[in-house]
Amino acid sequence: MDELGVLIFGPIGAGKGTQSRRLVEAFDLEHVETGTILRRNAHVETEYGTPAEYMSKGEYVPDAVVNEIVERELSEVGRYVLDGYPRTRSQAEFLDGVADPDVAIHIDVSEETSVERLSNRRTCPSCGATYHVETAPPAEEGACDECGDSLVVRDDDRPSVIRERIETYEERTAPVVEFYRERLPFVDVDGERPPDAVWSSLSSAFADAVDGLSN
Ligand code: AMP
Repeated sequence: MDELGVLIFGPIGAGKGTQSRRLVEAFDLEHVETGTILRRNAHVETEYGTPAEYMSKGEYVPDAVVNEIVERELSEVGRYVLDGYPRTRSQAEFLDGVADPDVAIHIDVSEETSVERLSNRRTCPSCGATYHVETAPPAEEGACDECGDSLVVRDDDRPSVIRERIETYEERTAPVVEFYRERLPFVDVDGERPPDAVWSSLSSAFADAVDGLSN
């Protein structure tokens, strides 16, 4: 298939970014990750203030800001995995007008796992790669394996903000996931396992879903 649109959902720390990067490699997709794009533009003034003002508190950036980013990014790609969007009902409605995704993936983890993973996460501010200080550290401490930049603790990976982000996800995004479960070929994956094990079930279920599209 020339064009392929994939949505990937999951609570924070579920491994969406990690698995999306693998999908990109294996299925020749572009990674459109709203969190990374917003972090790169965190201090850009918009009519609603800067993205950083929302992100540092664990709140969602206003729909209008994120919608504009997604529309622009998707206009440039035919095969994509959209990671971190749509997160609200109104974003889902907006997406309906600008794209026609084919498959949705949901990686699930418990709240306990979300907290544990995010508390130990280090992120590359340049390329978005993430590490776990104990289970998946970089080869050289503090440096990104992919691009060499210095790793950071994201502002919103602090314990006080993590809880807020989990609540926001449950309230605003969990219903969006259910909406797509009814509408698209849907791949459910247990995210409680190490990345290779998650990838093994995700990639085969995803390949089946894609095969099903052409039949
Ligand atoms: P993430 O890297 O996906 O965890 O996103 C980090 C933060 O960026 C979120 O906590 C939000 O503040 C913001 N963000 C990312 N995607 C969206 C979105 N679709 N809608 C609103 N805010 C978003």
